[in-house]
Amino acid sequence: MTEATGIVGEFLALKDETDADILAMQCGDFYEFFADDAELVADELDLKVSQKSSHGSKYPMAGVPVDDLTPYVSALVERGYRVAVADQHETADGHAREITRVVTPGTHLATGDASAQHLAAVVRHDGGRGSEGDTYGLAVADVTTGRFQVTQLDDADVSAVLTELYTFSPAEVLPGPELRNDDEFLATLDERSDAAVSLHATESFAPGRARHRVREQFGAETLESVGIADDDAAIAAAGAVLSYVEETGVGTLAAVTRLQAYGARDHVALDATTQRNLELTETMQGDSAGSLFSTVDHTVTAAGGRLLKRWLQRPRRERGELVRRQSAVAALTREAMAREAIRETLADGYDLERLAARATSGSADARDLRAVRDTLVLLSEVADAVAETERLADSPLADVLSTVDREGAAALAAELDAALVEDPPGTVTQGGLFRRGYDDDLDELIDEHEAALEWLETLPDREKQKTGITHLSVDRNKTDGYYIQVGKSETDQVPDAYEEIKTLKNSKRYTIPELDERERDVLRLEERRHDMEHELFERLRERVADRAPLLQDVGRALAEVDCLASLSVHAVENDWTRPELTDDGTLDIEAGRHPVVEQTTEFVPNDLQMRPDDRDFLVVTGPNMSGKSTYMRQTALITLLAQTGSFVPARSATVGLVDGIYTRVGALDELAQGRSTFMVEMQELSNILHSATEDSLIILDEVGRGTATFDGISIAWAAVEYISTRIHAKTLFATHYHELTSLGESLSNVQNVHVAADERDGDVTFMRTVREGPTNRSYGVHVADLAGVPEPVVDRSREVLDRLRDDKAIEVRGADSGEEGTTQAVFDLSSGQFDGASADGGSDETDPVATDGAADQLDPATEDVLEELSELDVNETPPVELMAKVQEWQAELDET
Ligand code: ADP
Ligand code: MG
Repeated sequence: MTEATGIVGEFLALKDETDADILAMQCGDFYEFFADDAELVADELDLKVSQKSSHGSKYPMAGVPVDDLTPYVSALVERGYRVAVADQHETADGHAREITRVVTPGTHLATGDASAQHLAAVVRHDGGRGSEGDTYGLAVADVTTGRFQVTQLDDADVSAVLTELYTFSPAEVLPGPELRNDDEFLATLDERSDAAVSLHATESFAPGRARHRVREQFGAETLESVGIADDDAAIAAAGAVLSYVEETGVGTLAAVTRLQAYGARDHVALDATTQRNLELTETMQGDSAGSLFSTVDHTVTAAGGRLLKRWLQRPRRERGELVRRQSAVAALTREAMAREAIRETLADGYDLERLAARATSGSADARDLRAVRDTLVLLSEVADAVAETERLADSPLADVLSTVDREGAAALAAELDAALVEDPPGTVTQGGLFRRGYDDDLDELIDEHEAALEWLETLPDREKQKTGITHLSVDRNKTDGYYIQVGKSETDQVPDAYEEIKTLKNSKRYTIPELDERERDVLRLEERRHDMEHELFERLRERVADRAPLLQDVGRALAEVDCLASLSVHAVENDWTRPELTDDGTLDIEAGRHPVVEQTTEFVPNDLQMRPDDRDFLVVTGPNMSGKSTYMRQTALITLLAQTGSFVPARSATVGLVDGIYTRVGALDELAQGRSTFMVEMQELSNILHSATEDSLIILDEVGRGTATFDGISIAWAAVEYISTRIHAKTLFATHYHELTSLGESLSNVQNVHVAADERDGDVTFMRTVREGPTNRSYGVHVADLAGVPEPVVDRSREVLDRLRDDKAIEVRGADSGEEGTTQAVFDLSSGQFDGASADGGSDETDPVATDGAADQLDPATEDVLEELSELDVNETPPVELMAKVQEWQAELDET
């Protein structure tokens, strides 16, 4: 074997190993392309081709210097090729070569283009029973930035996932195993995007392996914390992308650190935690009563209730759809009579979506089909009611009904009506289902059957006349079949033709040949009739099953009318207002209320203003029980309601549409689930920081509370900085760390508001009114003042408190780098260690005790009181204890 054979042979063997289009193999100081690859590369990149002789054959060969490979590879990848690179390394006996990376359009780092370069994996999992569509998982990585986004589309079709995919303009797409043979998917993708399609190893999409891969990359708990732990399709896609990036060996995997799970684009992302925190469908205690859904639900049908729940759980982002719903609600609000008439009509209907499923699965009986008919006819009743009311006819409500095939529905209703009797039996094998005139053969059979029955029915009269017997009847039972029964006293009068079959206490049973014959007829006819009706019924049911999409359409249209009417009822009854929807990120609520709390409380309305840039982050302070949590939740709920198309509890509202609502409400004890509260808190915070965008709404309530003060305040501090300078989401942040209010001074978009409380005669009155600025920080000192602590001590404590705040300040990091515009802000790390020199050698100027002459003159007892006072966390101390403390201090001071 010559050396030439070796090289080309090795090249061809390596080429066999990879499914890349082109192989570049290092040979000393050059990367060489051989055979077909050489021709192709030479063609594409205008390289010179030479000939390599090997074993009597000649092979085309092209090469580039080792240091010049990158631009050549870039050029090839940009043309859509996948290029494998085999490097040469020294071994004990010479050298060896192996493929070290495969550069593909989606994993190409050295791109000259500044826009995102997306590598996407799309996975389809079968939707399973009862769902209209399939489940799609989509994972999109930009290896140039490390951005990694994952979503799952449930009950979707291929066009929905493609729409979603297109918004990323992917450079490369990895179809999952189920999509590789989907010609529609591949053809559409090919047609509408420039993406290269790569077939990544099937096993990388396998659920277990993918999950493992994702965990490995992002940490064991991330799937839980971003809320996609159960989204197998999304995880499969995510795992495949990660393993693909890893396999291509471009060394960018480490950059992918942030797993961002997002809701499909038309929906507001609402993770499970947020749904729970906002008590959308059940309260924290797990009751459905008291939830947002049960509060606003006035639907009169099961399907309507289901849809309303879905609307609340999947709010929309698209303004057009929301305005459509709003307009319909508005029209219904002004047409109370028509609305109530429509709701009464709807209430007579049955659950068509469910009935459709029963028909398709073959379990629907005649009563079900009758219910289908009875509900289908409501469509035109409702449509007529809408058409007759001008305001409704001109509203989008009319469109809800007009999109349905009303003629088809009417025809099916008529067919069912013509087929089935008014009140059919619950079994489909015992006959009695069909009306006369439905089927000629059946009619004939029924005629015969009924004639035979008639003969039997009239037999007693005939026999009585013939024989003169008065106590004579004809009956039937299982063992004897049909028989003639004659009372004991008259048995001597029975004719000879009567054949005795049984003697009872007071009577005897007989049969006659004619009766036997008729009995056989009747049984035969009966059986045939049952069979025939059953058969006809099955055919009818199949026809209904074939129309399942129609039933679903009608069912959904009626459900939507029910839902819109329900929103209208609630708006009218509770004086809600139609919010204006904008895309500019503002939120302007005048006299807003909490939709659930207002039901049971004399509610004090509050305003809220947020806008991008200079007021998108509100730090909410105020004493315990003042109403911080309520204020923040009502804001989230008003936004959520606005994005379901509902009116909202406010005098007026302008709502900038959000792409997601994220909440973390502290002090939630989840120990029962075996996860520590703090772990849960951090997982949820992690999800928010991973997923929120500048278009999101974030509600953080007492974040950092679940741990020791220093950790807690540090995390809270860092989270505020990160959100306000990097994410720029609209954020409401309630905290009992008053130190955080100073962030408002240093970060221009952060503003303080507080819930006012009034102290009079030592009593705290909650005003429930939200005001600008931080809460009075000397609230605790103020309490001391009210309690009659001597004037000099109160004054002095104010002074000390101020000093404390200025002591050991830390830097607030400004936007992005923090190099520029760095500001000093307060972060009291020493927590009351005011009488010692600061550990980090704080200058004399910032040491209150050393510089303050008055301090030197204070006696130790006063100093002790002051120290205790400054250390006391007013918000964490029950009022009674607070009073006791103050009394104690007074006593101590009196002694000095
Ligand atoms: P915080 O979070 O400040 O401790 P909450 O929001 O939990 O306070 O509210 C405490 C109590 O005050 C709750 O029972 C709540 O129903 C009531 N409340 C809050 N805001 C209002 C308001 N605007 N009007 C009437 N009651 C309110
Ligand atoms: Mg609270």
